[in-house]
Amino acid sequence: MDKKEILKEFSSDPDRYYNVKLFQEQGFVRKSCDKCGRFFWTLDADRTLCPDDGLDTYSFIGEPPTSKRFDYTQAWRQVEEFFVKNNHKSVSRYPVVCRWRDDLFFTIASVVDFQRVMGSKVVFEFPANPLVVPQTCLRFKDLENVGVTGRHFSSFCMIGQHSIPEGKGYWKDECVDLDYRLLTDQFGIKKEEVVFVEDVWAGGGSFGPSLEYFVRGLELGNAVFTEFQGELGQHTTLDQRVIDMGAGLERFAWITMGTPTAYDCCFGPINRKLFDTIGINSDSEILKKYFTEIAKEIDHHDDLNEVRRLAVKNAGITDDQLNKMITPLEGVYLIADHLRTLVFAITDGALPSNVGGGYNLRMMLRRINATISRLNLKLDIDDLIDTHVDYLKETYPELDEKREDVKEILKLESQRYEDSKVHMKKKADRIREKGTPSVDELITLYESDGITPEYLKEVNAISEVPSSFYSKLSDLHQSEKKKAITELPLEHLPETDTLFYKDDPMEFDAKVIKVFDDYVVLDRTSFYARGGGQEPDHGTIAGFNVINVDKHAHIIVHQLEGGVPKEGETVQCKVDSIRRSNITKNHTSTHIINASSRRVLGSWIWQHSAFKDDDHARLDITHHSSLSNEQVKQIEDAANKMVKQNLTVNIDYFDRGTAEQTYGFRIYQGGVVPVKSVRIVSIEDKDVEACGGTHVKQTGDIELIKITKTKRIQDGVVRLEFVSGPTAFQYVKKQEIESKLKEQEDAARVELEKRREENKQKAREQIPILLEKIIAGKSGEMDGITVKNKLCFTASESYDEYFHLNFGKKLVAKDDSTAFCGIFEAGPTVRVMVYAGQQSGVNAGTIAKEISGILGGSGGGDTKFAQGGGKDTSKMEQAIAKAKSMILGE
Ligand SMILES: [Zn+2]
Ligand SMILES: [Zn+2]
Repeated sequence: MDKKEILKEFSSDPDRYYNVKLFQEQGFVRKSCDKCGRFFWTLDADRTLCPDDGLDTYSFIGEPPTSKRFDYTQAWRQVEEFFVKNNHKSVSRYPVVCRWRDDLFFTIASVVDFQRVMGSKVVFEFPANPLVVPQTCLRFKDLENVGVTGRHFSSFCMIGQHSIPEGKGYWKDECVDLDYRLLTDQFGIKKEEVVFVEDVWAGGGSFGPSLEYFVRGLELGNAVFTEFQGELGQHTTLDQRVIDMGAGLERFAWITMGTPTAYDCCFGPINRKLFDTIGINSDSEILKKYFTEIAKEIDHHDDLNEVRRLAVKNAGITDDQLNKMITPLEGVYLIADHLRTLVFAITDGALPSNVGGGYNLRMMLRRINATISRLNLKLDIDDLIDTHVDYLKETYPELDEKREDVKEILKLESQRYEDSKVHMKKKADRIREKGTPSVDELITLYESDGITPEYLKEVNAISEVPSSFYSKLSDLHQSEKKKAITELPLEHLPETDTLFYKDDPMEFDAKVIKVFDDYVVLDRTSFYARGGGQEPDHGTIAGFNVINVDKHAHIIVHQLEGGVPKEGETVQCKVDSIRRSNITKNHTSTHIINASSRRVLGSWIWQHSAFKDDDHARLDITHHSSLSNEQVKQIEDAANKMVKQNLTVNIDYFDRGTAEQTYGFRIYQGGVVPVKSVRIVSIEDKDVEACGGTHVKQTGDIELIKITKTKRIQDGVVRLEFVSGPTAFQYVKKQEIESKLKEQEDAARVELEKRREENKQKAREQIPILLEKIIAGKSGEMDGITVKNKLCFTASESYDEYFHLNFGKKLVAKDDSTAFCGIFEAGPTVRVMVYAGQQSGVNAGTIAKEISGILGGSGGGDTKFAQGGGKDTSKMEQAIAKAKSMILGE
């Protein structure tokens, strides 16, 4: 829908869409901006320009429009006090990792907290009406602006004021009245300073008018009245009208403090700490001038680098001031901002990685690291994390509990970054030679090698980070979290009665509703359909084998093999109960291993995905490193402890809102639940998950869980493969047999080694005696060696390679009229080894070649030493006879 069209329509009838009671009571006048034509409401009859074009833009810097001063946490206390006083419930923030929506990685606005997607529709579920929430929101689109513009953050607190007109809620008049009084009464801003601008909001099939409110050109909030659905002109009023007022808490603090940037009053003591480290003074006049210029220019240019150049020029900043003050200051703000975002994200269970939302987190940490090394700062990240958490914990006590986890993850990630620097440097050198890469090439560099443009800038491989880089990267990863649905001819079929959620009979009768190809739909079924990583049941329908079962919306489709029944028939159905029982044990085991992993490894463990079949199962968890054998054992032990405790597995249905409020968002281990009534599977207080699978009644039913293998399958995800129940016992038995076999093999190997050692020892004693006799000219049989005129041959089984090598070598070394030929078995081959002294008249090479040929192999060497052999053991006799005659001349 075209927003401009809607705005034109709404602004043509302001009394209906915008003229609230407050405007009449206070005497606001409606004006059209001389410059852009937009309509706005003001008490100042002389005002001719809208806030965006006004001359007072950002004049609050250094000169705030109120005598009250509130920093970030104080500002929230003011907001909360005001709304609670006015009958709102103050609700705790929701996680920044948006577990309840499958189209978003992160919470991007306060209203998202209360939206639940059902099919193609968005419904609202408010825990109270009206309410106010300090919702931390993450946005990565403007990352290059963070630290530079004075007002962009990668995470910020959206003050969410929400109301539905039914019940105790209210609509436009009261909303605008409250927002106005919040500014004037609570924050002490002069009435004439507040300007409301007419605007509209449209998205997700609905739309409505909105009033943005500004003070001195700074947009503080936007009250959206979501009222209509459909196409403009044919639109209808929504059943559930919603007020979605979102305001930036950071800006509320900023307007009262009038600091050069919003960062100066929103990060708490961390700024001071950072300023002291690099020795800059942020209060100077020059900064006020510079950041006011930035604010004025930013909305009029697309390229941030251009904005920066203009501000430098207009504020009269010298190169020296730029390098010694502005650049380090931007770095400090970036570090404080990014670190704050990471604290929230990791506390809520996200991990930096190469996939999905983890991309943005890794990117931010790398930007921090690159900034630290570019500015050559000596910073203690742990200390900075503590400073953030200590400042924020009053508003967000949950941050306090996870601070050590945050430190651990960031330390590990920073180490990885350090480790990859050698590789990155090589790449950077190549880029410097090739010339400036395109934005797409930069994205590839980041995605495949983890090289950030900041790093390339740091090492002078590129001169500037292109301003579209972050928005492009963010777009790429936003759309990743989507699914595809297959179409089947199932229109107008009734919902299948799911018996597996009721008495769960293993044998039942059912009526055939529809048959197409080899697919059958019944009126009711106990066959569990594939879902939540649980594999489907098998069995028979009307005697035909069921090989697959899938769920399409509320209809269960069975795939048969060998034939299908007729539509309208009543058929007998039988579920393979052994298969089902095994799958069920594996499913409950998945929950147990998930809980055990979390206990052993840390709070960041979430189920990434899971798969449960009858003879094996796997659970993929979010974890930063491979698991050690010790950790695997600890997880397995913890899991089997839960089995031994024979804990009760409870299944209850809750209203979704109640389930979330009672158990938190940890219930969404298996992803989003698109129904109003949530099936909660709890293993006493050890594990609580929203889950549609089949489960055992007591954990003792599982008997045994064995983890068979673990592997880091991708960055940030570790796979645990496991078996349970009868399969676990089979596995243990197989392990025992295998280990016994291995024991026997080991024993045989030891025995062989021992014999070899004995032979060696024997040879060491035997060889000198033999040598002495042979060199003395003795002939005949000696210890299995035939000797004739100092020429020797043996094929005795009692000699191994060691003997042949040592004997032959020493013999010819002592007397060059001697020669030696030995034939022996070594594994599957028969080998021949020949040594010939210079005066012996024997050619070693010729013999080795000839004998190897007989044995079906080849030989090589020279006249003095040669060897070879072959695998044809049947020719051994022939080879021995030939060798003997060749060396002894017989
Ligand atoms: Zn204007
Ligand atoms: Zn489950």
